[in-house]
Amino acid sequence: MKKTNIEPYIATYLHQKGRKLGLPIAGNFELTARCNFRCPMCYVHMDADAVDAQGGELTADEWLSIATAAQKKGMLFALLTGGEPLVRKDFFEIYDGMKKLGLMISINSNGSLLHGDVLKRFLKDPPCRFNISLYGGCDATYQKMCGIPVYNEVKENIRALRKAGVPVSLNLSITQFNCQDLEQIYRDAVELDVNVKASAYMYPPIRTNDEQYGTGTRLSAEEAAEMTVAWDKLRLTPEDFVERTKKMGQLIDDCCDSCSMETDDGVPCRAGSSSFWVTWQGKMLPCGMLTSPAVYPLESGFDAAWEELMQKTREIRMPAGCVNCSYRNVCGVCPAVCYTETGHFDCSPDYMCRKTKHQVNLMRAFEKEVSKES
Ligand code: SF4
Ligand code: SF4
Repeated sequence: MKKTNIEPYIATYLHQKGRKLGLPIAGNFELTARCNFRCPMCYVHMDADAVDAQGGELTADEWLSIATAAQKKGMLFALLTGGEPLVRKDFFEIYDGMKKLGLMISINSNGSLLHGDVLKRFLKDPPCRFNISLYGGCDATYQKMCGIPVYNEVKENIRALRKAGVPVSLNLSITQFNCQDLEQIYRDAVELDVNVKASAYMYPPIRTNDEQYGTGTRLSAEEAAEMTVAWDKLRLTPEDFVERTKKMGQLIDDCCDSCSMETDDGVPCRAGSSSFWVTWQGKMLPCGMLTSPAVYPLESGFDAAWEELMQKTREIRMPAGCVNCSYRNVCGVCPAVCYTETGHFDCSPDYMCRKTKHQVNLMRAFEKEVSKES
């Protein structure tokens, strides 16, 4: 798979600066809730009728007016996402308009519509990166997970982008529908020469149904831990896996030593301090997995909305149980995990606790096995 480039380090530096100065370095633009796939774990999916019944999506002009104001306020990176953003007939009006603003644009896509004239346009004027979700390693898995058997088409589209030198990164959501395909997906990633960002953690989709706190179509916490470890065993050599386990152990031990020095119960990530998310209806949130705090840039103006979002995000407190937990530096807990799992920012999420602890135990068991053999 491709080696890491320096882009994430530059982005990290810029986000640190943005956080300090109160600048919205990155904007996530959820252009639509519609998608030609039907994935059961999706946090936003709606069909066209339901979208219309709720007042419809923002127009291209409205997206560009938000992006223009955000760019004036400091935005450098824009992620165009959905749903599937390429289902919008006016996608290129938005894309070209944002390009003219000089933004570094990335696109999240399921990869199925990246052919014909659409592909030609992207090859002529590519984004900085495509993040393409690969949902399986064969048509049967695509049918089960997405309701559409387009594995080969997606792979061909990725191949065409790579051939033209367009940067592509794969997102892999590991669920009960595709966990048997991990080896094939890994082989595909190697063949296509692309990095994979894999996750077996699925946020409860509270935006589609507010009764979904702590639920969702997903693996059990223990199964999610097992799949995370299985993926790491595929992509790492036993030596690298053991090295990783040792570093993880160090992080857990160091955390205990320095707890009283380092505890901070504010939002630890970029959400609402140097990045924002605008939903298909124009609601601005710190992060797309959340339903609140929400502000409205088209009503109050972008600058006022951004100030209000930062203020409301600063009021969010992480759970004391997580802040003081020795696993916190190796655990995937974040405000969105707490909120979607429990309905509260300040409650520790049981699912994530179980996943993290099971994962640590599995890694340590494998480390012991390897040391016995050597
Ligand atoms: S709250 Fe969680 S999911 Fe949202 S941006 Fe932060 S780390 Fe990511
Ligand atoms: S979710 Fe559980 S394991 Fe993770 S930091 Fe919070 S208390 Fe610790």
